[in-house]
Order: sequence, then C-alpha cells, then structure tokens
Amino acid sequence: MVSRIDPDGASATLRIATAGTVRDHSGRKQASWQHAHLIEIIKATPDAVTLRLRLVESAYFLPGKYYNVRLSVPDRAGPIQRAYSVASSPVPATWVIDVGVREVPGGLISPQLVRGLSVGDRIQVRGPVGRFTWTRDDGGPVLLVGAGSGVVPLMSMIRYAAAADLNIPMRLVCSSSSFDNAFYRRDLADLTEQYSWLEVVHTLTRDSSDARATHHRRIDQRMIVEAVAGQFPRRAYICGPPTMVEDVQGWLGELGVDPASVRVEKYD
Ligand SMILES: Cc1cc2nc3c(=O)[nH]c(=O)nc-3n(C[C@H](O)[C@H](O)[C@H](O)COP(=O)(O)OP(=O)(O)OC[C@H]3O[C@@H](n4cnc5c(N)ncnc54)[C@H](O)[C@@H]3O)c2cc1C
Repeated sequence: MVSRIDPDGASATLRIATAGTVRDHSGRKQASWQHAHLIEIIKATPDAVTLRLRLVESAYFLPGKYYNVRLSVPDRAGPIQRAYSVASSPVPATWVIDVGVREVPGGLISPQLVRGLSVGDRIQVRGPVGRFTWTRDDGGPVLLVGAGSGVVPLMSMIRYAAAADLNIPMRLVCSSSSFDNAFYRRDLADLTEQYSWLEVVHTLTRDSSDARATHHRRIDQRMIVEAVAGQFPRRAYICGPPTMVEDVQGWLGELGVDPASVRVEKYD
C-alpha cells in the first residue's frame, strides 16, 4: 500500500498500489524493493546532487516522505540501506521522484550516490516511508526549519503547496554552512519571487559576511522567537541533525506552540 495525493491536491487518501507488498515487524504493509531508473543527475551544491528517479511502481506519496535506498558496498556481506527524502512534489501525479543527497565525507553510501552514479543506472529503492508529512488538510501558517540536507523534505512540501496553488503561509528557516552550500537555494529564490505566501530566511554557519543571508550563525532561540513572532505557526516541521531538531522543538514549546502540531525528522 502506498500513500497517494489526488492529482488536484485536494485530499490525501490511501490507495492500493499494484506493487507486491511485505509486512514489517509491526505487521504494517510496506512497499517492496523496486529498481528505479536514474534518469537525471542535477548538481545541487558542490557536495550534493538531486537524483531524478523513474519508479517502476507507483510514485504517489505525501510531501515529507522518504525512500530507503540500498547499494552493494565492497567488503560488506549484504547491501547497505540509507534513507533519502523526496524533494519533489507529488502534484501533479508522476512516476518520477527527486531525492536530494549530500555527501557525508567517509560515509558508505552518500559518496557513491553523489559521485558514483551515471544516468541510466538502476538503483534499488523502497518507499514511500515516514510520518513527517504535510498536506493542505494540515493547514497553516506553517513554520519549516531545516539544516543542511534537512531542507530536502521541506522542499517537497513547498513545491507541493506551489503546484496545488494552496496559498497557505509558509516560512522556511534554512541553515547551511555557506550560501553556495544551501540546498535548493536557486529554486527557493524563484519560488519566493513567484509566491507571496512563501518566506525564506537563510542563516549561514560558516560564512559571517555573505549579504544574501539574513543571519550568520547556527539556528538559535532568538531566530525562532523572531520566526514565530512574525507569523505564529499552526504547524511546524523541523528536520536535520538531532541536536538542532530537539533544540528547536524545545524553544517552540516554550513559545507556546502546541507540541501536537510539531513534527520532526532527525537525520542521524
Ligand atoms: C528519515 C531520514 C531521511 C534522510 N534524508 C536524507 C536526505 O534527504 N538527504 C541526505 O543527504 N541525507 C538524508 N538522510 C541521511 C542519510 O540517510 C545518511 O545517514 C547519510 O547520507 C550518511 O550515510 P552514509 O552511508 O554516506 O554515511 P555512514 O556510513 O552512515 O557514515 C556517517 C558518518 O559516520 C562516520 N563513520 C561511519 N562508520 C564509522 C566508524 N566505524 N567509526 C567512525 N566513524 C564512522 C563516517 O565517516 C561518516 O562521517 C536521512 C536520514 C534519515 C534518518
């Protein structure tokens, strides 16, 4: 069974996919592994790529979900699996998804995905997975907080809101080491030009002078106080390194944001 958004983005429903399914340890049905076809590699930053994949089975998903990717690694008995979030919108419905991957130096899988693949390769993926999802039914205003590759699933939410023409206020606080390393910065700039409901606040942790960013420090309590003061969120989504996610979650709680309205995804 896979998640599906109706092509007009009107509602999130579950439909049965034609794919075979397996059950996980909790008894829930999971999609099975499929061989996705790599149809495009887009350089996103000096150390990150967008992999555009054509799926064999259904590509319906809710914005914020991720796919598991598995690869064979030399000297390892079996394939190694990692999670990568979908960056593209499920609207309009498509069999093509984008996943955003940043290279983690010394990592087993991400360097292969960023530098070791060619268009035409087939990659084993399974999904969509996760509860870190937002649709129009969740409403807004929405506060999105992402650090590094944590912006990837938030990008899917923003692209979905744009594609479904939702006009729901969204504010993204995006932390990157430098402006050049900010995932999807060009797309975000284009989208903020086009849509008045979207605001993007960049903060840079390793560049103290780039005027294209609003802040030049790690995401801190003051930044979150400002983000909430200007637009109190009905929903908040925080994604990235566990410490950042937990800190922001705590600060939002202190500011009176209902914990039930806050969803988090930790990339550890
Ligand atoms: C739900 C979810 C969604 C995610 N989505 C994305 C996404 O959209 N984009 C993205 O880029 N990432 C995403 N991630 C992170 C991704 O799954 C991987 O964790 C990441 O790419 C690193 O994997 P790797 O195999 O390259 O590194 P790993 O092999 O896991 O290594 C990670 C680090 O640990 C070090 N290390 C490994 N083994 C040892 C050891 N024995 N001793 C000392 N150090 C060691 C490595 O040098 C490296 O620095 C997501 C994670 C989760 C949980």
